[in-house]
Amino acid sequence: MTCRKALNTFDLKFITTLLALIVLMSAQMSCQQGNSSGNIPADATDSIPADTIPQETVTPMDTLAHIFTTDYVMGRFDPAEHPDFTLIDNKYASREGMYLRKDAYAAFLNMYEHALKDGIQLQIRSATRNFYAQKGIWEAKWTGERKIENGENLSETTPDPVERARKILRYSSMPGSSRHHWGTDIDLNNLENDWFDTGEGLTLYKWLQQHAHEYGYCQTYTAGRPYGYFEERWHWTYTPVSARLTAFAEANLKNEMIEGFLGSESAVTIDVVKHYVLGINQQCNKLEARN
Ligand SMILES: [Zn+2]
Repeated sequence: MTCRKALNTFDLKFITTLLALIVLMSAQMSCQQGNSSGNIPADATDSIPADTIPQETVTPMDTLAHIFTTDYVMGRFDPAEHPDFTLIDNKYASREGMYLRKDAYAAFLNMYEHALKDGIQLQIRSATRNFYAQKGIWEAKWTGERKIENGENLSETTPDPVERARKILRYSSMPGSSRHHWGTDIDLNNLENDWFDTGEGLTLYKWLQQHAHEYGYCQTYTAGRPYGYFEERWHWTYTPVSARLTAFAEANLKNEMIEGFLGSESAVTIDVVKHYVLGINQQCNKLEARN
């Protein structure tokens, strides 16, 4: 009787252990399948130490999976309604109501804290702008309602549509072709290159050049590129996601799709996709942080 009882207890323990092992093995197998079969590699947040990411800001991979559409790349959505986006806290921004992707924002917050410890205060001047916001900027410059950076009123100085578009394109994107649609790109602190030449601006720029890559950020519009927008020392992109979106745009975005605003017919002549969407600092096409 005592012996049989002991045997039953042993059986029970053995079966419980066996069941636990089976559960563990199947969980591990499904994880491996998830990593290898999805079109998003599992390293989207690898540049940030996992223990420093606030858990509520981590984007689950299943919501990242459906971002690869031309509507997303062309900014035809409302970031306030999109599950991958979050409102930027006023503490980090020059104005209210700006949105960023959750993964890009989590990386920015870590970068912000590091910079602050080094005596530098980063500030987001611009973040996500969807197609409709960009259309507002573009058409204001197109009609002369807003002067371009050198003070020209383009409706008076530049009647030729292709030439007029090229002038706006020095610093502003055509709606549908801006990286600001993606929620991965931010403008920091000051929108004049000169500001970064001396004093506080120079210190900040040097810090970004040294450390931004540790957080996955890269300066998109550097000096000396063969074509595309002029140099922008303030514009930085979160490459773990934006490099994938650039690759998606290269494969799927066509000049003919860039339409729905004044002057859009010049997109094909100018080859906006090749010269502007893809005409970036090629270092930013690398997925991982460069360290
Ligand atoms: Zn920008």
